[in-house]
Amino acid sequence: MNKPIKFQCVTDCSSICCGGATILTLKEIVKLFKFFPITLGFRKIQPFNAEHRVYLDDISIKYRGFYITGDFIGGNRLKTRCRLLKNSLCTIHNQLKPLQCRIIPFSVTFPEVLQDLVIVDKKGGAFRECKGFYADAPLIWDGQFIDKSLKENFDILKEYLMFQRDIVEKIFISLEGNSLFKKFIQTGDGFFEVPILPEFVDEICSITGILDRVEFLRAQKSLFVKELTFRGMKNSLFIDALNTIEQLRI
Ligand code: SF4
Ligand code: SF4
Repeated sequence: MNKPIKFQCVTDCSSICCGGATILTLKEIVKLFKFFPITLGFRKIQPFNAEHRVYLDDISIKYRGFYITGDFIGGNRLKTRCRLLKNSLCTIHNQLKPLQCRIIPFSVTFPEVLQDLVIVDKKGGAFRECKGFYADAPLIWDGQFIDKSLKENFDILKEYLMFQRDIVEKIFISLEGNSLFKKFIQTGDGFFEVPILPEFVDEICSITGILDRVEFLRAQKSLFVKELTFRGMKNSLFIDALNTIEQLRI
């Protein structure tokens, strides 16, 4: 039996959900590339049941028996605060805000009807201290989304994941010789993150509708430089990303 979910974000909070990196989709890159340095991350997902497996067939890559999601990542994973926070408030709104941020606390890696499992998992981990699940909060899910905008954003995000699956799979397969790729496949789960590879930049610009490739690369270069160092530590992924942009000779 489903456990209804009551939730409302607490104003001025952002303590847990606005970490250094947020999930973006290919279709969102065109409006967000001036805000975030963008990389690409892969994660294995275990189907919870047959229904979840059918759902993953639509949104994820299948590789050697694994289900793998590929997401574009905006921001610096080493940081604990999103670069768009100001005084604990997000500085981008409405259509500009990433879809993943608009469906918090849910996750599009599970179908709508299984979102209670997502919440159980999150409450046991990263969202343990989230104050949004209070008794008088509005009911937003009861086997399906009750909140209309939540439902719309969830459906769009799913559609965008399906849209980007082919190119994400192509990039993933192109990494087969990479030692981190091999480690990722051999280990139980984990996460594998790479820069946008030079050979895919033109295709990504064309698919996303970025008309000026140089503007895109210059904006990304500037963001990678700004975000390179945190607490005296250089983000090695961002060094790779800068080398990648260098190869493109803008
Ligand atoms: S989801 Fe939770 S942690 Fe994030 S802003 Fe809302 S109340 Fe705060
Ligand atoms: S874009 Fe806004 S809502 Fe999303 S993680 Fe950053 S600060 Fe939070």
